[in-house]
Amino acid sequence: MSTSALIVLIVVVALVLLGILVIVARSNATSAHQKLCGGCRRVMLPVWTRCLFCGWAPVARLEFILGPMANQTLPLSEEVTTIGSVAGNTVVLADPAVSRKHAGIRKVNGEYELADLGSTNGVYVNGHKVPKKTLEPGDIIRVGNTEAVFKPE
Ligand SMILES: [Zn+2]
Repeated sequence: MSTSALIVLIVVVALVLLGILVIVARSNATSAHQKLCGGCRRVMLPVWTRCLFCGWAPVARLEFILGPMANQTLPLSEEVTTIGSVAGNTVVLADPAVSRKHAGIRKVNGEYELADLGSTNGVYVNGHKVPKKTLEPGDIIRVGNTEAVFKPE
């Protein structure tokens, strides 16, 4: 191999390394918004519904602020969580304004979808009556005389 060919090779390798450095620097910059795993503290990509390193998954919860469940927290660890006035629901609310099967929260692709299950008095989120809603952090859900705040993790 001649000296000039060697120099060209070194320049090409240097350019490739520089390119990789730029790509790494960019991905670090965008990772500032990414969330950390609650298990191993590594960065989780937004598309992951659970950590691919250790299997940890965020558990959303409802924090009850009004009604018979006030000051209690309910982890939404099941695929479907139901709220109603009779046994068989995940949350049983002894409240005359709550229907037997009032509302349900279902996990869909890592999000939580609240649905009215045909209640008499409806389901309210942030004061608006909704048949169905994908829950956002801080949403206040009202069922009968009970209010709960949705916390995603
Ligand atoms: Zn992890």
